[in-house]
Amino acid sequence: MARYTGAVCRQCRREGQKLFLKGEKCHTVKCPVLTRSKAPGQHGDGRKKVSEYGIQLRAKQKAKRFYGVLEKQFRKYFEQAVKKQEGITGENLLRILESRMDNVVYRLGLASSRPEARQLVTHNHFTLNGHKANIPSQLLKEGDVIALKEGSRDSAKFKMILEQNGSRPIPQWLELDQNTLTAKVVRMPERDEIDLEVEEHLIVELYSK
Ligand code: SF4
Repeated sequence: MARYTGAVCRQCRREGQKLFLKGEKCHTVKCPVLTRSKAPGQHGDGRKKVSEYGIQLRAKQKAKRFYGVLEKQFRKYFEQAVKKQEGITGENLLRILESRMDNVVYRLGLASSRPEARQLVTHNHFTLNGHKANIPSQLLKEGDVIALKEGSRDSAKFKMILEQNGSRPIPQWLELDQNTLTAKVVRMPERDEIDLEVEEHLIVELYSK
């Protein structure tokens, strides 16, 4: 499974906003987005005027980094979004990204970050509709039921994760039973339930060139 392996916080600084890639540190005053205001690199300060293409490219990069998706897969999601009969393409794209299994695990507070969620899914800690599910990019749909495996529930790792993330609100499109750590996708999210600050129409414009 291909993934970005460079300096993590650098990605947030490049986009000028928190992408929540590191778990607990992201919620503390140590987050470099708060402590270091300029973008990384020797030209991080005083940038030149950014072209229309540059703005569109940044929007795409931000979304890719937020969800931890590489170009090929991202493009595939875009094509799926275009083919949808209903809805606005940009919003459809974000909905597809939100429905990834690793994102759902993160949204449920069963991981401290999307990268951690990806690892936990790969390590077989979850089931989907009662079956083995270890593919982080698997797209969930309305009615799907995801559960933390019984053997994992009492592990020290998940106790710590649940303690750390217990106060993080769970979006209304998901329903979590805290006792059984089983969750249901009640519906797909609305745009205003997706906390990624991006103008998704810029991504559509970029790919439509
Ligand atoms: Fe690093 Fe998290 Fe802050 Fe991003 S949000 S810069 S990953 S600590």
